[in-house]
Amino acid sequence: EGAGAPAAPATPAPGFAALGLALPILRAVQHAGYEQPTDVQQRAIPAAMSGADLLVSSQTGSGKTAAFVLPALQRILDARANNDKRRPKGVTHGPRVLVLAPTRELAQQVTRAAISYGHNVQGLRVASVVGGVPYHAQLRALRGPLDILVATPGRLMDLMGSGAAIVANVEMLVLDEADRMLDMGFIDDIRHIAEQLPAERQTVMFSATFAGHVATLARELTREPQRIDVASHTDTHAQIEQRLYWADGTIHKHKLLEHILTDEALEQAVIFTSTQE
Ligand code: AMP
Repeated sequence: EGAGAPAAPATPAPGFAALGLALPILRAVQHAGYEQPTDVQQRAIPAAMSGADLLVSSQTGSGKTAAFVLPALQRILDARANNDKRRPKGVTHGPRVLVLAPTRELAQQVTRAAISYGHNVQGLRVASVVGGVPYHAQLRALRGPLDILVATPGRLMDLMGSGAAIVANVEMLVLDEADRMLDMGFIDDIRHIAEQLPAERQTVMFSATFAGHVATLARELTREPQRIDVASHTDTHAQIEQRLYWADGTIHKHKLLEHILTDEALEQAVIFTSTQE
Protein backbone atom coordinates (compact mmCIF):
# COMPACT_ATOMS: atom_id res chain seq x y z
CA GLU A 1 0.00 0.00 0.00
CA GLY A 2 1.03 3.65 -0.01
CA ALA A 3 3.18 5.20 -2.68
CA GLY A 4 3.50 3.15 -5.82
CA ALA A 5 2.79 3.46 -9.49
CA PRO A 6 0.03 5.97 -10.09
CA ALA A 7 -3.31 4.21 -10.28
CA ALA A 8 -5.11 4.11 -13.62
CA PRO A 9 -7.73 6.86 -13.69
CA ALA A 10 -11.18 5.73 -12.55
CA THR A 11 -12.57 7.16 -15.78
CA PRO A 12 -10.65 7.26 -19.04
CA ALA A 13 -9.67 10.70 -20.39
CA PRO A 14 -10.47 12.59 -17.14
CA GLY A 15 -10.07 16.00 -18.78
CA PHE A 16 -12.86 15.08 -21.18
CA ALA A 17 -14.93 13.39 -18.46
CA ALA A 18 -15.04 16.75 -16.66
CA LEU A 19 -16.86 18.14 -19.70
CA GLY A 20 -19.69 15.69 -19.04
CA LEU A 21 -19.17 13.25 -21.90
CA ALA A 22 -20.33 9.65 -21.45
CA LEU A 23 -18.10 6.61 -21.09
CA PRO A 24 -18.33 5.24 -24.67
CA ILE A 25 -17.12 8.61 -25.95
CA LEU A 26 -14.42 8.92 -23.29
CA ARG A 27 -13.06 5.52 -24.20
CA ALA A 28 -12.80 6.50 -27.87
CA VAL A 29 -11.08 9.76 -26.95
CA GLN A 30 -8.62 7.83 -24.81
CA HIS A 31 -8.09 5.37 -27.64
CA ALA A 32 -7.27 8.31 -29.93
CA GLY A 33 -4.54 9.20 -27.43
CA TYR A 34 -5.96 12.58 -26.42
CA GLU A 35 -4.97 13.51 -22.90
CA GLN A 36 -6.56 16.93 -22.53
CA PRO A 37 -9.26 18.79 -24.44
CA THR A 38 -7.90 21.57 -26.65
CA ASP A 39 -9.03 25.17 -26.01
CA VAL A 40 -11.86 25.02 -28.51
CA GLN A 41 -13.01 21.66 -27.15
CA GLN A 42 -12.86 22.92 -23.56
CA ARG A 43 -15.16 25.81 -24.44
CA ALA A 44 -17.39 24.47 -27.20
CA ILE A 45 -18.22 20.99 -25.88
CA PRO A 46 -20.09 22.04 -22.71
CA ALA A 47 -21.76 24.92 -24.57
CA ALA A 48 -22.91 22.59 -27.35
CA MET A 49 -24.14 20.03 -24.81
CA SER A 50 -26.28 22.73 -23.17
CA GLY A 51 -28.15 22.92 -26.47
CA ALA A 52 -27.17 26.52 -27.24
CA ASP A 53 -26.53 27.85 -30.71
CA LEU A 54 -22.84 28.61 -31.18
CA LEU A 55 -20.63 30.73 -33.40
CA VAL A 56 -17.12 29.40 -33.04
CA SER A 57 -14.02 30.85 -34.62
CA SER A 58 -11.07 28.53 -34.53
CA GLN A 59 -8.47 27.33 -36.96
CA THR A 60 -7.95 23.98 -38.63
CA GLY A 61 -5.67 21.97 -36.37
CA SER A 62 -7.30 23.33 -33.22
CA GLY A 63 -9.29 20.15 -32.68
CA LYS A 64 -12.50 21.74 -33.91
CA THR A 65 -13.83 18.53 -35.49
CA ALA A 66 -14.01 16.77 -32.13
CA ALA A 67 -15.46 19.98 -30.66
CA PHE A 68 -18.68 19.34 -32.57
CA VAL A 69 -18.53 15.58 -33.18
CA LEU A 70 -18.27 14.69 -29.47
CA PRO A 71 -21.35 16.69 -28.38
CA ALA A 72 -23.20 15.30 -31.41
CA LEU A 73 -22.40 11.77 -30.26
CA GLN A 74 -23.48 12.65 -26.72
CA ARG A 75 -26.83 13.83 -28.11
CA ILE A 76 -27.23 10.51 -29.94
CA LEU A 77 -26.39 8.52 -26.80
CA ASP A 78 -28.86 10.58 -24.76
CA ALA A 79 -31.58 9.93 -27.33
CA ARG A 80 -30.86 6.21 -27.22
CA ALA A 81 -31.04 6.26 -23.42
CA ASN A 82 -34.47 7.86 -23.73
CA ASN A 83 -35.45 4.91 -25.92
CA ASP A 84 -35.86 6.97 -29.06
CA LYS A 85 -39.43 7.70 -28.02
CA ARG A 86 -39.84 10.24 -30.78
CA ARG A 87 -38.98 7.67 -33.41
CA PRO A 88 -41.45 4.84 -33.95
CA LYS A 89 -39.87 1.69 -35.33
CA GLY A 90 -40.28 0.81 -38.97
CA VAL A 91 -40.41 4.42 -40.16
CA THR A 92 -37.49 5.78 -42.14
CA HIS A 93 -35.96 8.74 -40.39
CA GLY A 94 -33.36 11.16 -41.52
CA PRO A 95 -30.36 11.93 -39.35
CA ARG A 96 -30.44 13.66 -35.97
CA VAL A 97 -27.22 15.48 -36.80
CA LEU A 98 -26.42 17.15 -40.12
CA VAL A 99 -22.93 18.49 -40.81
CA LEU A 100 -22.34 20.69 -43.87
CA ALA A 101 -18.76 21.06 -45.09
CA PRO A 102 -17.34 22.94 -48.08
CA THR A 103 -15.37 20.18 -49.80
CA ARG A 104 -15.47 16.48 -50.35
CA GLU A 105 -12.13 16.10 -48.56
CA LEU A 106 -13.32 17.91 -45.45
CA ALA A 107 -16.64 16.05 -45.43
CA GLN A 108 -14.82 12.73 -45.64
CA GLN A 109 -12.46 13.80 -42.85
CA VAL A 110 -15.42 14.66 -40.61
CA THR A 111 -17.08 11.34 -41.50
CA ARG A 112 -13.95 9.44 -40.52
CA ALA A 113 -13.76 11.38 -37.25
CA ALA A 114 -17.41 10.63 -36.45
CA ILE A 115 -16.89 6.91 -37.10
CA SER A 116 -13.73 6.85 -35.02
CA TYR A 117 -15.01 8.90 -32.04
CA GLY A 118 -18.29 6.97 -32.29
CA HIS A 119 -16.58 3.59 -32.34
CA ASN A 120 -18.14 2.55 -28.99
CA VAL A 121 -21.59 3.98 -29.68
CA GLN A 122 -23.57 0.85 -30.46
CA GLY A 123 -25.04 0.71 -33.93
CA LEU A 124 -23.99 4.24 -34.82
CA ARG A 125 -24.94 5.08 -38.38
CA VAL A 126 -22.92 7.71 -40.19
CA ALA A 127 -23.22 8.54 -43.89
CA SER A 128 -21.68 11.11 -46.15
CA VAL A 129 -23.01 12.57 -49.37
CA VAL A 130 -20.52 14.57 -51.38
CA GLY A 131 -20.16 15.77 -54.92
CA GLY A 132 -17.92 14.13 -57.48
CA VAL A 133 -18.70 10.54 -56.54
CA PRO A 134 -21.34 8.19 -57.98
CA TYR A 135 -24.86 8.43 -56.59
CA HIS A 136 -25.67 4.77 -56.03
CA ALA A 137 -23.59 4.15 -52.90
CA GLN A 138 -24.87 7.38 -51.36
CA LEU A 139 -28.46 6.46 -52.15
CA ARG A 140 -27.95 3.13 -50.44
CA ALA A 141 -26.45 4.79 -47.36
CA LEU A 142 -29.44 7.14 -47.15
CA ARG A 143 -32.00 4.35 -47.33
CA GLY A 144 -31.54 3.00 -43.81
CA PRO A 145 -31.90 4.87 -40.54
CA LEU A 146 -29.15 7.39 -39.86
CA ASP A 147 -27.65 9.21 -36.90
CA ILE A 148 -25.17 11.56 -38.55
CA LEU A 149 -25.13 12.80 -42.13
CA VAL A 150 -22.10 14.71 -43.39
CA ALA A 151 -22.64 16.50 -46.69
CA THR A 152 -21.45 19.09 -49.12
CA PRO A 153 -24.33 21.49 -49.80
CA GLY A 154 -24.70 20.97 -53.58
CA ARG A 155 -24.99 17.20 -53.47
CA LEU A 156 -27.29 17.28 -50.46
CA MET A 157 -29.59 19.69 -52.33
CA ASP A 158 -29.77 17.24 -55.25
CA LEU A 159 -30.60 14.34 -52.96
CA MET A 160 -33.20 16.34 -51.04
CA GLY A 161 -34.79 17.36 -54.32
CA SER A 162 -35.23 13.73 -55.37
CA GLY A 163 -36.56 12.80 -51.94
CA ALA A 164 -33.61 10.51 -51.18
CA ALA A 165 -32.30 12.64 -48.31
CA ILE A 166 -34.69 13.33 -45.44
CA VAL A 167 -33.77 16.22 -43.17
CA ALA A 168 -37.06 16.63 -41.30
CA ASN A 169 -35.67 15.11 -38.10
CA VAL A 170 -32.43 17.05 -37.80
CA GLU A 171 -31.93 18.24 -34.22
CA MET A 172 -28.44 19.63 -34.66
CA LEU A 173 -27.05 21.45 -37.68
CA VAL A 174 -23.30 22.04 -37.90
CA LEU A 175 -21.72 24.31 -40.51
CA ASP A 176 -18.02 23.53 -40.72
CA GLU A 177 -15.86 26.23 -42.33
CA ALA A 178 -18.88 28.40 -43.06
CA ASP A 179 -16.73 31.17 -44.55
CA ARG A 180 -15.29 28.76 -47.12
CA MET A 181 -18.73 27.47 -48.04
CA LEU A 182 -19.80 31.03 -48.76
CA ASP A 183 -16.61 31.70 -50.74
CA MET A 184 -17.51 28.68 -52.83
CA GLY A 185 -20.94 30.06 -53.61
CA PHE A 186 -23.02 27.75 -51.44
CA ILE A 187 -25.07 30.48 -49.74
CA ASP A 188 -28.35 29.74 -51.52
CA ASP A 189 -27.96 26.00 -51.08
CA ILE A 190 -27.32 26.46 -47.35
CA ARG A 191 -30.37 28.72 -47.00
CA HIS A 192 -32.52 26.26 -48.89
CA ILE A 193 -31.33 23.31 -46.81
CA ALA A 194 -31.83 25.22 -43.55
CA GLU A 195 -35.41 26.10 -44.54
CA GLN A 196 -36.23 22.40 -44.70
CA LEU A 197 -34.93 21.71 -41.20
CA PRO A 198 -37.06 21.88 -38.07
CA ALA A 199 -36.97 25.40 -36.59
CA GLU A 200 -36.54 23.80 -33.16
CA ARG A 201 -32.98 22.73 -33.73
CA GLN A 202 -29.52 23.56 -32.49
CA THR A 203 -27.23 25.34 -34.94
CA VAL A 204 -23.48 25.42 -34.51
CA MET A 205 -21.34 27.39 -36.95
CA PHE A 206 -17.57 27.17 -37.27
CA SER A 207 -15.82 29.83 -39.32
CA ALA A 208 -12.46 31.56 -39.44
CA THR A 209 -14.35 34.87 -39.37
CA PHE A 210 -17.86 36.03 -38.54
CA ALA A 211 -17.76 39.18 -40.63
CA GLY A 212 -19.71 40.16 -43.76
CA HIS A 213 -21.84 37.47 -45.37
CA VAL A 214 -21.04 34.97 -42.63
CA ALA A 215 -22.51 37.36 -40.06
CA THR A 216 -25.68 37.70 -42.16
CA LEU A 217 -26.01 33.94 -42.46
CA ALA A 218 -25.36 33.51 -38.73
CA ARG A 219 -28.20 35.95 -37.96
CA GLU A 220 -30.53 33.99 -40.23
CA LEU A 221 -29.66 30.53 -38.95
CA THR A 222 -29.05 30.92 -35.21
CA ARG A 223 -30.98 32.09 -32.16
CA GLU A 224 -29.23 33.93 -29.33
CA PRO A 225 -25.95 32.30 -30.25
CA GLN A 226 -22.99 32.13 -27.88
CA ARG A 227 -19.79 33.41 -29.39
CA ILE A 228 -16.62 31.35 -28.83
CA ASP A 229 -13.44 32.90 -30.09
CA VAL A 230 -10.30 30.81 -29.76
CA ALA A 231 -7.19 32.86 -30.28
CA SER A 232 -5.04 31.58 -33.09
CA HIS A 233 -1.33 31.19 -32.70
CA THR A 234 0.10 33.97 -34.77
CA ASP A 235 3.49 34.14 -33.07
CA THR A 236 6.18 34.54 -35.66
CA HIS A 237 8.95 32.00 -35.54
CA ALA A 238 12.25 33.77 -36.03
CA GLN A 239 13.96 30.65 -37.37
CA ILE A 240 11.56 30.38 -40.31
CA GLU A 241 12.52 32.18 -43.49
CA GLN A 242 9.64 32.93 -45.82
CA ARG A 243 10.03 33.36 -49.58
CA LEU A 244 7.58 34.18 -52.31
CA TYR A 245 8.08 33.01 -55.89
CA TRP A 246 6.06 34.41 -58.75
CA ALA A 247 5.34 31.87 -61.51
CA ASP A 248 4.43 32.71 -65.11
CA GLY A 249 1.99 29.83 -65.36
CA THR A 250 1.35 26.22 -64.36
CA ILE A 251 4.32 24.81 -66.27
CA HIS A 252 6.68 27.34 -64.76
CA LYS A 253 5.20 26.73 -61.32
CA HIS A 254 5.72 22.98 -61.59
CA LYS A 255 9.32 23.49 -62.77
CA LEU A 256 10.01 25.80 -59.86
CA LEU A 257 8.49 23.33 -57.46
CA GLU A 258 10.50 20.47 -58.90
CA HIS A 259 13.66 22.55 -58.61
CA ILE A 260 12.96 23.31 -54.96
CA LEU A 261 11.93 19.77 -54.04
CA THR A 262 14.89 18.09 -55.74
CA ASP A 263 17.37 20.18 -53.78
CA GLU A 264 19.40 17.58 -51.88
CA ALA A 265 19.67 19.85 -48.87
CA LEU A 266 15.93 19.52 -48.42
CA GLU A 267 15.15 16.58 -46.19
CA GLN A 268 11.43 17.02 -45.58
CA ALA A 269 8.71 19.17 -47.07
CA VAL A 270 5.03 19.89 -46.51
CA ILE A 271 2.98 21.22 -49.42
CA PHE A 272 -0.39 22.88 -48.91
CA THR A 273 -2.68 22.86 -51.92
CA SER A 274 -6.27 23.83 -52.62
CA THR A 275 -7.41 20.49 -54.01
CA GLN A 276 -6.50 16.84 -53.60
CA GLU A 277 -5.54 16.63 -57.26
P1 AMP B 1 -8.97 19.42 -36.39
O1 AMP B 1 -8.68 20.83 -35.96
O2 AMP B 1 -10.30 18.96 -35.98
O3 AMP B 1 -8.68 19.18 -37.84
O4 AMP B 1 -7.95 18.46 -35.56
C1 AMP B 1 -6.57 18.52 -35.75
C2 AMP B 1 -5.87 17.29 -35.19
O5 AMP B 1 -5.83 17.33 -33.77
C3 AMP B 1 -6.50 15.97 -35.56
O6 AMP B 1 -5.50 15.15 -36.10
C4 AMP B 1 -7.00 15.40 -34.26
O7 AMP B 1 -6.86 14.00 -34.24
C5 AMP B 1 -6.12 16.05 -33.23
N1 AMP B 1 -6.80 16.28 -31.92
C6 AMP B 1 -8.06 16.69 -31.71
N2 AMP B 1 -8.30 16.84 -30.40
C7 AMP B 1 -7.18 16.53 -29.74
C8 AMP B 1 -6.81 16.50 -28.35
N3 AMP B 1 -7.67 16.83 -27.40
N4 AMP B 1 -5.56 16.12 -28.05
C9 AMP B 1 -4.68 15.79 -29.02
N5 AMP B 1 -4.95 15.80 -30.34
C10 AMP B 1 -6.19 16.17 -30.72
